[in-house]
Amino acid sequence: MNKKTIEDIDVAGKRVLVRVDFNVPQDDSGAITDDRRIESALPTITYLLRQGAAVILMSHLGRPKGKITPKYSLAPVAKHLAGLLGTDVALVYATETDPLGIEEAKAKAAHRSVVLLENTRFAGGEETNDPALSAQLATLADVYVNDAFGAAHRAHASTEGVAHAVKRAGKPAVSGYLMQKELDFLGGAIRNPVRPFVAILGGAKVKDKIPVIESLLPQVDTLIVGGGMAYTFYKAAGHEIGKSLLDETSLEFCKTLLCDDKIVLPVDCVVAPAFANDAPATTVKVSEIPADQEGLDIGPASVAAFAEIIKKAKTVIWNGPMGVFEMPNFAHGTAGVAQALADATGLGATTIIGGGDSAAAAEQLGFADKITHISTGGGASLEFLEGKPLPGVVALDDK
Ligand code: AMP
Repeated sequence: MNKKTIEDIDVAGKRVLVRVDFNVPQDDSGAITDDRRIESALPTITYLLRQGAAVILMSHLGRPKGKITPKYSLAPVAKHLAGLLGTDVALVYATETDPLGIEEAKAKAAHRSVVLLENTRFAGGEETNDPALSAQLATLADVYVNDAFGAAHRAHASTEGVAHAVKRAGKPAVSGYLMQKELDFLGGAIRNPVRPFVAILGGAKVKDKIPVIESLLPQVDTLIVGGGMAYTFYKAAGHEIGKSLLDETSLEFCKTLLCDDKIVLPVDCVVAPAFANDAPATTVKVSEIPADQEGLDIGPASVAAFAEIIKKAKTVIWNGPMGVFEMPNFAHGTAGVAQALADATGLGATTIIGGGDSAAAAEQLGFADKITHISTGGGASLEFLEGKPLPGVVALDDK
C-alpha cells in the first residue's frame, strides 16, 4: 500500500482540501474531552501552511444523519484548532442549500490560511457517497489530502468519492502525515513484524473479532484472548460460565481454536453477582465460575501470565479491553496489560494499540505516552488488521 503523500507533490500556492478526523468526544456542554484526533492532524496542517497552501479542512462529527444539527456543529472544534495552531480558523456556515458551506469556503480560501467546512454528515450525500456531493467538494481542491485514518474504512463522499472526483479532474489525491503514520505502524507490524509478534484481543463480542482472529492468527507467534470474549471460549471448553457474556453463534468457531497452541486464554477471572462497580467481587479459576455470577475482568494470575509473554515480545498489537474497564473495580486486568505494553516499549518492543476502547483505556489509565503508537481509528484499525482494503486509502494516488 504505497500511496503518494503530501511530500510527493507540489502544494505551494495551491488550494488543498484535507479530510481530517475531528470526530472528537464532547461533554454535554459541547466541550471537547479528548483532543488527540485534532492534535494528530496538526503536522499535516502546519506543513501545508508552511508550504504556502490555502488549507480547507473537512470532517464529520457524530451522527447528524444528513440534517443540519447545531449540536454537531464543528464550531467548538474550529475554536480549539485555532488555539492549537495559533492562527484563525474560519468555520463556514451551513445553509439548507449548501449544508457544508462549500461556496463560502471557496470565497474565503486564501494562502496560508485555514478554512473549516461544516460537518460533512450535515449533507445527506456524505454517507451515501453521492457523486454530486463528491463533485461539488472536488471543485474546492487543486489537491486532495486524506488524513482521516479513523474514517478511511468508510466509502463516503468526503473520503472515497471526492478522491476519485479530484483524480478525474487530473489533480492529485494523496495521504497526509497521520494517515501515513497509521498505515506504516499497522501495516509494518502485520507485513514485517520483528518477532516474537504478540496480538492481544479483548472486548465484548467474539463475533466482531472473528475476522481479525482469522487474519492475525497465521501471522502472530501468540494470540492472547481476554475480556468478555474469553467466556465463549470457556463455554466451548465445557466450563460453567455463569452469567458471563456468551456469544452462542461463535461457539463452534471457538471450539476449533481451543487446541491451537498459539492461543492463550486467561487462567483466572474476577466475578461478581451483578454488573456493577460495587458488586462484591471475587477471583476464581476459570473452571470454577459460580452459576449465579458473571466474569467482569481477568484475574491477577492471568495478568502475570500475559505480562510474561508481552515482555518477551518485540511487536505487540492490542485491541479490546480485558474487562469492564469503565468500572474501576474491574479495570485492573486492562491496566495490567497496559502496564505490560508500557514495559515492553521500555524494553525496545514496538507496541501498538488499535484504537477504540483499549486506546481510551490506555489514556484513562495514564499509559498513553509509553505506547509506541496509539491508533486514532477504532473501526478503521480493526478492518485494517482484518486485512480488508480501506476505501479511503485505496482511492489515493499510488507512488
Ligand atoms: P468491544 O467494542 O467489542 O471492543 O468491547 C468493548 C466493551 O467490552 C467495553 O465496553 C467493556 O466494558 C466490555 N467488556 C470487556 N470485558 C467484559 C466482560 N467480561 N463482561 C462484559 N463486558 C465486557
